Amino acid sequence: MEKLIDSYGRQIRYLRVSLTDRCNFRCIYCSPADKVFHFIEHEEILRFEEILEIAQAAAEMGITKIRLTGGEPLVRKGVIDFISQLSQVNGLEDISMTTNGYYLSEMAHSLRSAGLNRVNISLDSLDRRKFKRITGFDGLLKVLRGIETALQEGLIPVKINVVLLKGINDDEVENFIKLTIDKPLAVRFIEFMSTNRQLQETNEGRFISAKVILERIMDKYPDAHSVTAEKGCGPASYYQLPGGQGMFGFITAISQHFCSRCNRIRLTAEGNLRPCLLNDRELELKKRLREIPQSQTELRKDAIKSLLKEAVLSKPISHRLGSGEKDVTNFDMSQIGG
Ligand code: SAM
Ligand code: SF4
Repeated sequence: MEKLIDSYGRQIRYLRVSLTDRCNFRCIYCSPADKVFHFIEHEEILRFEEILEIAQAAAEMGITKIRLTGGEPLVRKGVIDFISQLSQVNGLEDISMTTNGYYLSEMAHSLRSAGLNRVNISLDSLDRRKFKRITGFDGLLKVLRGIETALQEGLIPVKINVVLLKGINDDEVENFIKLTIDKPLAVRFIEFMSTNRQLQETNEGRFISAKVILERIMDKYPDAHSVTAEKGCGPASYYQLPGGQGMFGFITAISQHFCSRCNRIRLTAEGNLRPCLLNDRELELKKRLREIPQSQTELRKDAIKSLLKEAVLSKPISHRLGSGEKDVTNFDMSQIGG
């Protein structure tokens, strides 16, 4: 099998696929600051059949994990049938999803039956009003129900993604940690990334490093101890409270990047391969694929494999966000899938 190994010896086993750039929420750190959305035209969105073709070729090159993201992946019509088909792709061991959780209470059962293994759910506040301020939507209670349903359905480990926003939710860290006492949740605090100039301006001063938060927690809970996370727990470092069922951790993409361990590439909703989230270089896979007739299955597969290889070989050694350089990237997370 031809493996996907980049120029720095990292083997790529993980493909993150954005199913759509649309979303039912308008998170302040993700949507365009001026709220003017430039959605991708419907016909420019990668079709499910095309994603399946790409997934098959990628699995033949050693990709074992696929995470579905967006935008909000659960707003895309047909997502359950798509996952059923994706779970039949030979070689894939783990299919997961990052979701805002709003539709999980009604969809978790079908998702599990279709073959989804686990979910990450974004939740930035446990306070109803603050939740609305951050997401633009009064959806906290429904998301909490979604989390319960995900646990009941066994979409585990259920991870909760909390983007740290100074002055907005950093006072809630303790409440989030307390969730891990009774529930087997992995709560992950994520450093805010200013991925474009507008975000930098509108969220000036919102960044708070995970280190500061960890120091605060350790002052309050000196018994918290670091734990080795299980398989599938990604780039976070984890801690546990004594007797806690769950754990909490930090994703320090800015203050202490984990690029040397990076094992992923991304496929955007419009069908580009993106070697690094925090670098705007993309390769136009859908464009190439649509030049080849459907009947030429082997030719199509060769084209996908060749672009996957090129994308992996062009992965930068690390990103430069947070280096002090200006305008390192220019994108909204909802376009690419965080
Ligand atoms: N809609 C889904 C959700 O919210 O989970 C999936 C897409 S969302 C873009 C994926 C993840 O990216 C979420 O956990 C979100 O919190 C995170 N994210 C979005 N914008 C971010 C930013 N500027 N900095 C850090 N994380 C961000
Ligand atoms: Fe939507 Fe997720 Fe972005 Fe929030 S973070 S606007 S839920 S895509």
